[in-house]
Amino acid sequence: MNIKVNDNFRNIKETYLFSEIASRVRAYKEAHPDKDLIRLGIGDVTLPLAPVVVKAMQDASAEMGVKETFRGYPPESGHEFLKQAVSDKYDSIGVSLDLSEIFISDGAKSDIGNLVDILGENEIIIPDPVYPVYVDSNLMNGNKITIIPGSKENGFLPMPDSIKEQKSAVIYICSPNNPTGAAYDKQQLTKWVEYANRTGSLIIYDSAYEAFIVDDLPRSIYEIEGAKECAIEVCSFSKFAGFTGVRCGWTIVPAALAAQDGTSLNKMWFRRQATKFNGVSYPVQRAAEAALSPEGMVQCMENIAYYRKNASMLAEVFDSKGIFYTGGRNSPYIWLECPDHMGSWEFFDKLLNEVQIVGTPGEGFGKAGEGYFRITAFGTHENTEEACRRLMDLL
Ligand code: PLP
Repeated sequence: MNIKVNDNFRNIKETYLFSEIASRVRAYKEAHPDKDLIRLGIGDVTLPLAPVVVKAMQDASAEMGVKETFRGYPPESGHEFLKQAVSDKYDSIGVSLDLSEIFISDGAKSDIGNLVDILGENEIIIPDPVYPVYVDSNLMNGNKITIIPGSKENGFLPMPDSIKEQKSAVIYICSPNNPTGAAYDKQQLTKWVEYANRTGSLIIYDSAYEAFIVDDLPRSIYEIEGAKECAIEVCSFSKFAGFTGVRCGWTIVPAALAAQDGTSLNKMWFRRQATKFNGVSYPVQRAAEAALSPEGMVQCMENIAYYRKNASMLAEVFDSKGIFYTGGRNSPYIWLECPDHMGSWEFFDKLLNEVQIVGTPGEGFGKAGEGYFRITAFGTHENTEEACRRLMDLL
C-alpha cells in the first residue's frame, strides 16, 4: 500500500502493563499449580446488574420487538428521558443543567478520547499517575503534554501552583483518581477552577468514580462556582451501576464554554457527535434511566457499599502496619507505598510469590507511580478477607 499512517502513534508506549502482569501470573501458576491466587488487580466491577436495571433492559428489548413501540436510530445526544434523569441527578447536588448541555455516550472512555477532536493546538496538562487514556489520546493527536506529578507530599493531588508556566492549557483532572483513589476537596477544586478561569484554560473533569464518595467532597466540578465557564465533565454508569459491559455514560458541555475565538464548545461537540456517533441503544438508555431512579439508586448503592467494605478492610491492614496509602475511602482503589523502598514490580513479585496476591504495579500508571502499588476493592468479601490475612502476615 502507498498510504501513510498517523506518525503520532509512534509516540505511544506499548501497553505492556496488563500483558506483563498476565505473563508473570501465568508463569507462576505453571510452576505452582496448587497455589490459590487472589486477584486484586482488576479495575472492573464484578457484581451483577441491579434487578431494576435488568427489568428495564428486558422491557425495553420487548418494546423493540413490537411494531408500535419499535425505535430506530436514537437521537445522537441521547433520549430525553435519560438526559432528564441525568439532569435530576445533578439537581440533587444543587447543579442545574439545560438538557442541551447533556450528551449521552457509550461510556466515558470514548468521550475522553474523542474530545481532542474539537480542540486545536493547546498546551496539555495531565497529572501523574493517572488513567492512561488522557495521555495516549493526546499523543495520538500530536499534542505536547506537561505532566504534573503526584507524590506523598501532595497526597497525590497535584495543585495548580506546581505548574511552572502559568498560561492557558487543557487540564485533565480525575477525582476520585484512578489509580490513587485520592479525591480533591472543595477548596482544592476551587483553586483549579480559579486557575482555569484566570488563565483561560479548559478543565476536562473525569468523575467516573463519584459514586464512591462518602465524605463531604464535590461529586461534580459544577459544584464549584465558575466551573461552567471552564470545565467539561465526563461521567459513566460503569462503576456506579456496573455498566462496564453494558456501556453508557454522559458528558456535560456547558453552553457557556467558549473558545478563544468565541466558538461554542457545546455546538462543536454536538456537531462532532452528530457526524461520528450514532447514539446509545434504546434498551441501554432505559437501563441507565432505571439505575438513576430512586429504586435503582438504592440497589446500585448496595453494590457500591459492598466494594467499599472491601476497601475499608484493606485500608485497616495498611493502617495497622503504618504503611502510607491514599484512597480506600471515596474510591475502590488503594494506592500504597511499597514497603522497604521496593520498586513497583519488585513488590508485585513479592506479593505474587510469597502470598499469591495479584495487584497492579504503580509504575504502569505513570512515572510518579514508581514505588507504589494499586490494590482494588472489586473482589469478593471472602477473597478480600483472605488477602487481608495474608497481608497481615507478610507485611
Ligand atoms: N475514567 C476513569 C478514570 C476510569 O478508570 C475508567 C475505567 O476504568 C473510565 C473512565 C472508563 O469508563 P467507561 O467504562 O465509561 O468507558
